[in-house]
Amino acid sequence: MMPSALEAPSKNTLMFVPDLVYFEPGALEYEKGRRIHAWAEEQNLPIRITPSHNRITGLPGESDLEKYRLAKRTLVVGVRKTLTFDTSKPSAEYAIPIATGCMGHCHYCYLQTTLGAKPYIRVYVNTDDIMQAAKQYIDERAPEITRFEAACTSDPVGLEHISSSLRELIEFMGQEEYGRLRFVTKFHHVDSLLTAKHNNHTRFRFSVNADYVIKNFEPATSSFEERIEAAGKVARAGYPLGFIIAPIIWHDGWEQGYAALLQKLAHALPPEAVRDLTFELIQHRFTKTAKTVIEQRYPKTKLEMDEAKRKYKWGRWGQGKYVYPDEQANALREFITERIFEHFPEASIDYFT
Ligand code: SF4
Repeated sequence: MMPSALEAPSKNTLMFVPDLVYFEPGALEYEKGRRIHAWAEEQNLPIRITPSHNRITGLPGESDLEKYRLAKRTLVVGVRKTLTFDTSKPSAEYAIPIATGCMGHCHYCYLQTTLGAKPYIRVYVNTDDIMQAAKQYIDERAPEITRFEAACTSDPVGLEHISSSLRELIEFMGQEEYGRLRFVTKFHHVDSLLTAKHNNHTRFRFSVNADYVIKNFEPATSSFEERIEAAGKVARAGYPLGFIIAPIIWHDGWEQGYAALLQKLAHALPPEAVRDLTFELIQHRFTKTAKTVIEQRYPKTKLEMDEAKRKYKWGRWGQGKYVYPDEQANALREFITERIFEHFPEASIDYFT
């Protein structure tokens, strides 16, 4: 039996199997759509047809909270219609859309607000169209390198056993002289990607954090140990490797927590991992809307979201974010930066934001 999505991650986190699968019109005309259909049948999952993911109604569940949890265990297989890519600063030029939604239950996740009331997991079957659109973006900027981030709206590694889209994308980008792919994951199911012909054009990043953060705010994701073991495999497969420490959270004992994180990483990683290693550092932030949604969905969360303790940072579209005041943000940045260089003198830190 699958563990409940809200249980703490077990030692051996299972691959995600949804409770229910919907197919949108046209999805079964694609080979990938038919393959996912056959997989869902093999798993004995209830399969339904829907005219559109926007029209899914009647999901079981009494309360809004129950409906939310069930929606996060519902897979929608569809055709990606919007092939205009969003920008994805600071980590890449563009976000490449291969999936939306995630089965993880990280309390702080920004998908809580960006996906609103429809947190289904959607995978797209027309990967060729998506790659063709990427090719146009690459050609427009050539000979400048164009980087694509595949994890802006999902955790695609956690869905790879269902869609195989990441492998296709990795191999496509491997052949593009001016194209680069990157994604981040909290899942350890990387085996099917180890033999992909990446040609060093894909940076495989793992999201890591202090014990306190993983334990309290990241249910239904792989454990730290599983992620690090997977990072070792990825490095041995020759992928450029990176870590995103996010969200960096100020908590009692944060210095010990982040020092221990870097120490454990240094201890666990094979030598292949450190030859071209990057770090990205992102402090915790929240919007007023996110705070309301998070408090409804995870009412017992220990996530500190007290506006009075934060600094307000104006946003591009009016909705500002609450970040740590400069003094705290600087202390976090300086301390973690020092620990990184202490253990990984050759690594580069791409940004702190
Ligand atoms: Fe969000 Fe990533 Fe957690 Fe999924 S694993 S819920 S995408 S933060």
